[in-house]
Amino acid sequence: MASSHTVLMRLVASAYSIAQKAGTIVRRVIAEGDLGIVQKTCATDLQTKADRLAQMSICSSLARKFPKLTIIGEEDLPFEEVDQELIEDGQWEEILQQPCPSQYSAIKEEDLVVWVDPLDGTKEYTEGLLDNVTVLIGIAYEGKAIAGVINQPYYNYQAGPDAVLGRTIWGVLGLGAFGFQLKEVPAGKHIITTTRSHNSKLVTDCVTAMNPDDVLRVGGAGNKIIQLIEGKASAYVFASPGCKKWDTCAPEVILHAVGGKLTDIHGNALQYNKEVKHMNSAGVLATLRNYDYYASRVPESVKNALVP
Ligand code: AMP
Ligand code: MG
Ligand code: MG
Repeated sequence: MASSHTVLMRLVASAYSIAQKAGTIVRRVIAEGDLGIVQKTCATDLQTKADRLAQMSICSSLARKFPKLTIIGEEDLPFEEVDQELIEDGQWEEILQQPCPSQYSAIKEEDLVVWVDPLDGTKEYTEGLLDNVTVLIGIAYEGKAIAGVINQPYYNYQAGPDAVLGRTIWGVLGLGAFGFQLKEVPAGKHIITTTRSHNSKLVTDCVTAMNPDDVLRVGGAGNKIIQLIEGKASAYVFASPGCKKWDTCAPEVILHAVGGKLTDIHGNALQYNKEVKHMNSAGVLATLRNYDYYASRVPESVKNALVP
């Protein structure tokens, strides 16, 4: 029998369960003690066994259920048969009970592009900064990020043995974002969150020009967007290439669904069609509120150095 739910809501409901499964893989690899670290382009660009297994799990699970999707994952992996144990077939029922925004109700599977970062914050993962890590599944339609899921496998890991470990945040434009408590930084405070592992003079110049009260240097694009929606930071500033479409797709949706804004450093919206280049060459500027304050303070020298 055909499902009465739209393709988009079935995909988001599946992505939720698939991201949860990936989160369990990320925790298991640490527990087993062999991270299997490989350098990609340089010493701060790493891949671990968790990145590899989580991507296999996510991409195979999605492709099995939605064979016509375009799925783009961060990791370059050789083709191999995926162990059945890595496949997640579940879907999160609470999502299926939500209405699909009418503008998305006729979307077909082949019209959707899914951007997968199986483990965002790998450098921090290898250094034990576990709450920086997220699993990101972003969904785009006509070049725009419209739905996303973020799993944070080690949410609560410093809260003691009784705390429930891990959480999943999800959102759809026009419906909202769920799985967290929206909070804003106190009015008038400028707290900037930026890279910890990929710093450069441009990044520092841009952050300094914003006259911040405080600067937080943490790992992960997903983690920094969580800081914005939970009142820990007021702007995410990354005036550098390095961050890719799979880093920003899901986080951008969660932020936009609660009224925030994510662009490149010039103020351009990011594009997520399947042909787009992966690199966000002109950096990232994201805020929950007061976007214009931060955008107006990006130095011309920084803008000139970052070509979209
Ligand atoms: P960060 O804020 O440093 O955690 O970066 C956010 C995301 O962009 C992570 O997935 C990083 O791996 C990626 N990224 C940022 N800069 C670079 C870079 N120079 N080389 C490789 N990946 C980067
Ligand atoms: Mg990443
Ligand atoms: Mg990654």
